[in-house]
Amino acid sequence: MTDNKINLKYDIVIIGGGPAGMSAAIAAYEHGNRSILIIEREKRLGGILKQCIHPGFGLEMYKEELTGPEFAARLIAKVREYNIDCRMSSMVLDIDRKLRVTGTSSDLGVFTVQAGAVILAMGCRERPRGALNTPGTRPSGVFTAGAAQYFVNMYGYLPGKEVVILGSGDIGLIMARRMTLEGAKVKAVCEVMPYSGGLARNIEQCLNDFNIPLLLSHTVVEVHGKERVTGVTIAQVENVPGKGRVPVKGTEQYIPCDTLLLSVGLIPENELTTSCGIRLNPATKGAEVDQDRQTEIPGIYSCGNVLHVHDLADFAAEEARIAGEAAAERVRKLRENAGEKSCEEGGFKVGLKADGKVRYVVPQVITAKKDVGVYFRVSDIFKKPTLVVTASGSADGAEGEAAENVLLKKKYLKLVPGTMQTVTLKKEMLEQIPDGGRIEFKLLPGDAE
Ligand SMILES: Cc1cc2nc3c(=O)[nH]c(=O)nc-3n(C[C@H](O)[C@H](O)[C@H](O)COP(=O)(O)OP(=O)(O)OC[C@H]3O[C@@H](n4cnc5c(N)ncnc54)[C@H](O)[C@@H]3O)c2cc1C
Repeated sequence: MTDNKINLKYDIVIIGGGPAGMSAAIAAYEHGNRSILIIEREKRLGGILKQCIHPGFGLEMYKEELTGPEFAARLIAKVREYNIDCRMSSMVLDIDRKLRVTGTSSDLGVFTVQAGAVILAMGCRERPRGALNTPGTRPSGVFTAGAAQYFVNMYGYLPGKEVVILGSGDIGLIMARRMTLEGAKVKAVCEVMPYSGGLARNIEQCLNDFNIPLLLSHTVVEVHGKERVTGVTIAQVENVPGKGRVPVKGTEQYIPCDTLLLSVGLIPENELTTSCGIRLNPATKGAEVDQDRQTEIPGIYSCGNVLHVHDLADFAAEEARIAGEAAAERVRKLRENAGEKSCEEGGFKVGLKADGKVRYVVPQVITAKKDVGVYFRVSDIFKKPTLVVTASGSADGAEGEAAENVLLKKKYLKLVPGTMQTVTLKKEMLEQIPDGGRIEFKLLPGDAE
């Protein structure tokens, strides 16, 4: 791939024209860069927001409640106002460590762009049925919730009339309401965990307001039907040590339906990331990044849902601004001081770790002594927990507990896995930590339900 002739050259190349990609481009422009290219495989900018016609967007960023297309339209208007180049219907196939981006489009065929910085903003895709190994036949009528949303909102097709939804993440909840509003009967939303992975507001507005039952600790154990789904068997599940969440014999229940929608998780689209050698974090399934969202390869940044799955488009767009500004700053420094060394922060590096109750933190590395916002998610429901953030002297923790220094403590009424949290590590806190130190995020006392 990388042997192709370089036919384009830009300071900053952004892969993906969703809210993260556009927001990164806008931030880079506002930071003074005028050589920015967005490459998007679809015909139109907006990413997943094009099909999210429900409200609930923009409350953080614009202090207004917008639909997905309205939120996207604000970013598209800025991209147009700033005259940022966009290559639509163009699919990126490869990136390499020398920041060469290879793609394909009908007008250029296979093309290569030499970039001064690359921003990964490819979003995520839904986990399909194959990933679940649900027994039963393979009839039509099994869709991911996002695919059903695409049919209903983009084409006006209703994919079924009697529906069971597996998974209570936000997409499943939103589709329960959407299918109901379009005249379908949603018989149940089954969730394998004892809690929903969706936002509390979506459980209220999408299920409770429409009397749709949410069956926690339940899963689909069999799909029935030859040509088309005729029903599903569901069962309760329980935690069995060493085996995970297992169906309980004798609790099976048959529900007649013609459609099964799956909302069983999102997978960041990181094939390009791994193909250029960037390792993924096992908890986020995205790249590990520093406070600027720079990956382990200097000049390659990652942001939005490809980095970690965000609850809100606002947060994805906000995070992308960090990457956009940092990419523009990198190019500026390279130009002014000519050389990779000019981009290095000067020998400060601390690693961030989560204790398990805190499932993950982003960023995972800090290389600059400045205020840094850290996103984190917990792994279970915790009532009245205290977040304790500590710093220890060396990267491998060799100086032990005695050297541990509490940077901050914060009490919460309740923490749930479906809601991302953020805290700020102040510059003054980071100044106390030596190069090679480690910051740990712990949850105490952790009353898991
Ligand atoms: C069903 C659903 C409901 C949601 N509801 C809400 C809500 O109510 N409120 C809210 O705030 N958020 C909501 N969200 C979340 C929000 O949509 C996401 O947080 C946001 O879209 C993430 O932005 P992104 O730019 O990272 O990814 P995306 O929007 O997924 O954009 C990624 C873009 O990258 C492109 N791309 C990928 N690979 C390539 C490649 N190789 N070459 C070129 N282009 C590529 C894709 O085509 C896509 O356009 C919802 C999401 C879904 C799926």
